[in-house]
Amino acid sequence: MINLSTQNINRYFLLSFFIVSFMFISACKTKKTEPVAAEVVLPEVNVQSKPAPKTYYASYTRLSDIIHTKLDINLNWDSCFVIGKANLKVRPYFYDTDELILDAKGYAINEVKVNGKKAIYTYDGYKLTIKLGKVYTKDETYDVFVDYIAMPNKLKVKGSAAINSDKGFYFINPDGKNKFKPKQFWTQGETESNSCWFPTIESGNERFSQEMAITVDTSMVTLSNGRLLYSTKNSNGTRTDVWRQDLAHAPYLTMLAGGNFKIYRDKWRNMEVNYYMEPEFAPNAKLIFGNTPEMIEFFSNKIGVSYPWDKYSQIVVRDFVSGAMENTGAVTFYDPMNKTIRDYEDQTDEDIISHELFHHWFGDLVTCESWPNLTLNEGFATYGEYLWDEYKYGREEADKGGFNNLNVYLASTDNNRVDMIRFNLTDRESMFDVNSYQKGGQIIHMLRKYVGDKAFFTAIKTYLETYKFKPVEIHHLRLVFEEVTGEDLNWFFNQWYLNQGHPELEINYEYADDTKKSIVSITQKQDLSKNPLYKLPIDVDIYEAGKVTRRRIVLDSVSQKFEFSTNSKQFLINVDAEKMLVCTKKDMHSKEEWLYMFNNAPLFLDKLEALEALDKFKTDSLVQLAFLKAFDDPFYSIKTIAISKVKSLNERNQELAYPKLKNLAMNDKKSIVRARALKVITEVYASKNNEDVFASAEKDLSYSVETNLLRHYATAQKEKAWSIAKKEQGTTNSNMQTAIAEFYAKEGSAAEHVFFLNIFERKSGFGLFFIIPQYKIYIKRQNDDTIKEGIKAISVSAKNTTNTFVRNSLKGILRDMKSTAKSEELKGEIQREIDGLN
Ligand SMILES: [Zn+2]
Repeated sequence: MINLSTQNINRYFLLSFFIVSFMFISACKTKKTEPVAAEVVLPEVNVQSKPAPKTYYASYTRLSDIIHTKLDINLNWDSCFVIGKANLKVRPYFYDTDELILDAKGYAINEVKVNGKKAIYTYDGYKLTIKLGKVYTKDETYDVFVDYIAMPNKLKVKGSAAINSDKGFYFINPDGKNKFKPKQFWTQGETESNSCWFPTIESGNERFSQEMAITVDTSMVTLSNGRLLYSTKNSNGTRTDVWRQDLAHAPYLTMLAGGNFKIYRDKWRNMEVNYYMEPEFAPNAKLIFGNTPEMIEFFSNKIGVSYPWDKYSQIVVRDFVSGAMENTGAVTFYDPMNKTIRDYEDQTDEDIISHELFHHWFGDLVTCESWPNLTLNEGFATYGEYLWDEYKYGREEADKGGFNNLNVYLASTDNNRVDMIRFNLTDRESMFDVNSYQKGGQIIHMLRKYVGDKAFFTAIKTYLETYKFKPVEIHHLRLVFEEVTGEDLNWFFNQWYLNQGHPELEINYEYADDTKKSIVSITQKQDLSKNPLYKLPIDVDIYEAGKVTRRRIVLDSVSQKFEFSTNSKQFLINVDAEKMLVCTKKDMHSKEEWLYMFNNAPLFLDKLEALEALDKFKTDSLVQLAFLKAFDDPFYSIKTIAISKVKSLNERNQELAYPKLKNLAMNDKKSIVRARALKVITEVYASKNNEDVFASAEKDLSYSVETNLLRHYATAQKEKAWSIAKKEQGTTNSNMQTAIAEFYAKEGSAAEHVFFLNIFERKSGFGLFFIIPQYKIYIKRQNDDTIKEGIKAISVSAKNTTNTFVRNSLKGILRDMKSTAKSEELKGEIQREIDGLN
């Protein structure tokens, strides 16, 4: 799964925004409460009612084993009920038993049979306990049939950071009343929500093959795991699709979705690779997902285990509760993947696509046995993003992603004080955090750099081949790496996986002329009462005249000195030459050494570290030259750093930078470079004639560029700002919507109200985050007629969101409206809406 709060939001916005976003993102579901059919007895179920474990979070004890799950699903769109018939083939796991306990949350049970005979059962709304009528041994199987109605919308749900809701089965726009949303259904199993729509044993250490029959209106297409066996047209005008997956997978990976989707059919080797998108966005399916076959080929070869499943389909649904979910062979994505060509110019989605695909080995083929071990799924999936970037776009791009991940982890000071593997877990949803994902990915990178590529890829191939179709915990991974490398690796796994935090290093340098020795002192400054004292093998590059020598040192004390014999004072000692340590660093290089590093060290991260460190010497003429040189770097991220340094340049160098900036603003291949260059030109070079830059920006495909132009015009040439705002008023691009909202907040009249009203109708939850503050400014400037128009929209939006922060903000707008309104009658009306929301 992609963790929406920590990963994607960060990609769209800024690192500094991370901690804020982490707090705010939650459910964005439209809750429907239809009357229940008279004969259905509604169980009151709180899906979080399991007692929280106080000490050790054990994996699920295996009493019975489901071998095969066969489902026949019908939908009641009026009530949002799932009408199901489940046929399970089951056997005792080891011990003899005359009982089967299934997870089944919030059902009305019509009938239960064992081997075709009516069975006695008890049901508490959460667990279905079936009497088998005789004692079975582990060598005997039996068939269980459950006829039930699942009522996912009746469940009380509790969200988490990664998944905003956990009712398992979702009906989108079921009554068709929202003209901006298609009618769809989809499921989300992880962590333990698939039992909200079919009876199962909901644990990562369970596995079954499955067959899924789903009956829908003929206008809908469906998707599930495995192959589509056949479709049958029914006499009542519906159609039944039957999907089958013969390879066993964990219950949380079962999926079902349907709606009006167009299917783009691609292939890898001879396997189906399909992209399901809404008709409006389907023409861009190849643009968005088109590298998938190459990714499957690359991962299959790189890890030495071919993609093991029947097919690979990817579907983009509305209002998804997470970024994406790695359901076996049928991955679900959230709707920001509904991109136009212009959206794509600013943001591709290959990180999320490669993440979900990599899960098909790490998560789907080999599955963590319990949620405390989640990083075995998510750390690897996050590292899949690195591997794809490294192969397709080069090490710079991969290192940039890794660096961002490291910083997302380091920035979350409140969240990183927990172990990676949390055996004392109380809330399984809390595992979907910066530790399991971002830090997890970086630890795997460190492990690769420590053991070397050959050992690393041999070990993960062995791990996958040894534990395929089996549950694993962290020690399985360690034992494989130990077997391959011949080294006891408890030190590495103990400090990184079974402990919290990270090293905080301070690095000092001395040179003794008489002995010709360079001395590097490294101190571990982290609080040792809360964090481990680390053992850190570190690669060190020593740059002398004409040569670079790599040495590996091992830091394993609080403070250590390392001596290097050199012929003369070296130019640079580059500690952590691979830039792979998960740590903070205070590196006391001199200005000359940082400059040497910028000019000579090979990695993007070397240059980045040097440029940032040189900021404190920014008035120095050589440093200024380095900043200018950064404009000509082939890698775009270095160019963006150069752009950020323009304000530090002296007047003469700013003049020298100007033509470079103009060239970047008008011609660079990356829209982020064009957009940032444009912004700096408008801020620093406003007195110059920049008409050619603006003319180019007006024609630019990128919304990032156009929004920066709009923001500039809003302060300098309002009539041009109006022209852009009106041209783009119907856009679905969030960046452009925000820029227009900022402009209308200050300049808009009643005529612009429709822009805001449409957004409140289209978006829900976190999607409104950036619009709300602008609307508050806008509505304060309007008269009673416009306020009156807005009340209903805000009130409905507040009722429909389950995101507490957004709801409170919307209530705040209503209070503002009340204080702005002139007439007492209108004030009263607004107060009644506020009261209705409390
Ligand atoms: Zn994931």
